[in-house]
Amino acid sequence: MRQIDHLIAGGGGGKAARLGDVYDPNRGTVQAQVALGGKAELDGAVEAAKAAQPGWAATNPQRRARVLFRFRELVEANMDDLARLLSSEHGKVLADARGDVQRGLDVIEFACGIPHALKGEHTQGAGPGIDVYSMRQPIGIGAGITPFNFPAMIPMWMFGVAVAAGNAFILKPSERDPSVPVRLAELLLEAGAPEGILQVVHGDKEMVDAILDHPDIAGISFVGSSDIAQYVYSRGVANGKRVQAMGGAKNHGIVMPDADMDMVVNDLAGAAFGSAGERCMALPVVVPVGEDTAQRLRDKLIPAIQALRVGLSTDEDAHYGPVINAAHKARVENWIAKAQAEGGEIVIDGRGFSLQGHEQGYFVGPTLIDHVTPDMESYREEIFGPVLQIVRAKDFEEAVALPSKHQYGNGVAIFTRNGHAAREFAARVNVGMVGINVPIPVPVAYHSFGGWKRSAFGDTNQHGMEGVRFWTKVKTVTQRWPDGSVTGENAFVIPTMG
Ligand code: NAD
Repeated sequence: MRQIDHLIAGGGGGKAARLGDVYDPNRGTVQAQVALGGKAELDGAVEAAKAAQPGWAATNPQRRARVLFRFRELVEANMDDLARLLSSEHGKVLADARGDVQRGLDVIEFACGIPHALKGEHTQGAGPGIDVYSMRQPIGIGAGITPFNFPAMIPMWMFGVAVAAGNAFILKPSERDPSVPVRLAELLLEAGAPEGILQVVHGDKEMVDAILDHPDIAGISFVGSSDIAQYVYSRGVANGKRVQAMGGAKNHGIVMPDADMDMVVNDLAGAAFGSAGERCMALPVVVPVGEDTAQRLRDKLIPAIQALRVGLSTDEDAHYGPVINAAHKARVENWIAKAQAEGGEIVIDGRGFSLQGHEQGYFVGPTLIDHVTPDMESYREEIFGPVLQIVRAKDFEEAVALPSKHQYGNGVAIFTRNGHAAREFAARVNVGMVGINVPIPVPVAYHSFGGWKRSAFGDTNQHGMEGVRFWTKVKTVTQRWPDGSVTGENAFVIPTMG
């Protein structure tokens, strides 16, 4: 059976004491095993990072950027292979898998501009003969801990910027689909990055704890579920590290009475069910404003959802494929049962779905649940599956309040033709990323990604200038070059007195 090894100092991690199963979600079988490491493997990676990082930081930023330019070309040349590999372990259809890689490449393109992003500030004449300037220096060794649902994009969000800024980076990808992150690290080596600048260590909680406690790791970026995000944030910060930890989500789509309903339904079909709903920027809650809007929406949604095609991740005609594993399929189906027990109306039931010839695959049919209310647990918690809940709001105020009061605050969207309503909504809603007639408002790479409330712990976002700030520390220099005289213009006067 294929074994997926660590990538430490350009090589593997030696004989693995523990192995984890990597499934084929289309078939419900084990297709590979991944080495699960801990402190010993991490120590090896940190030693290699310590050896490589000072030289990399001293390499001028244009040269570091050139490595990223080459990496970008290599990833593009390998796009089809990467997408197939990603899709085979994750279960998302090939078009989504290519999108996963492409959205990561967008951040690499941003990181290619690192010389510009690292420029500091300068004040001439802050006092007599005194200049002040600041520079951004790499934090040293950074680590990334990533979720299963974007095994290419999220690692690239992190290491693209961290490596460009002169850091060494140790990636701990999800143990459920670990192959693509290793391929990406191999391609960065091929592009000319020194060994030790991007390494991959696999594992579960044991490896995560080793990262959180390692004294030589200065910063940690985490993306995953909220309870783990909060744990990673607290333990990492208690150990004196800087930590950004993105968590779960329950994004709402507000449908105003004047919205273009055909557009809304088309957008919802993709945003709620695409990638089997396993996106932190999926739209699993739709909020029609007013009973008439709710009825019109429901009438159009039902046939659109019934027309969705669930299939193998390799089926180019499928809208979405299986969920990640058997436990998650059971979890999603349990949430549907829970919603029903809480009084939700199961309009379309995706439980018990099976694909002919692939009965053991982890497929869940598209599900629509109406008359969901804010007190229901199935509304308050993240389901992370192909399930759309309708929560009816009587007016605009109630529609703004629903996502604002929810424990998660990752993304939200409003569908309307009314510019004033959209503007008010964007200004007032208590959520980090807002779409106006855009169902999945993932910011482009040169802006930054991050939610609010339990969707993110820490205070900097991913990528864009926020990413540059996270992976660098500012040093400020106050300088004076006296000409030898001690009086007059060159006498030392601190700026506040000047
Ligand atoms: P997860 O929290 O189970 O795993 C994330 C990472 O944490 C993995 O690398 C995993 O190995 C590690 N981990 C798991 N259990 C751990 C434990 N007990 N202690 C320490 N580390 C542990 O998340 P997942 O199921 O892989 O991903 C789905 C979740 O990620 C969803 O909640 C989704 O909303 C969220 N997500 C959020 C964003 C965002 O940007 N806000 C983006 C993508 C996914």
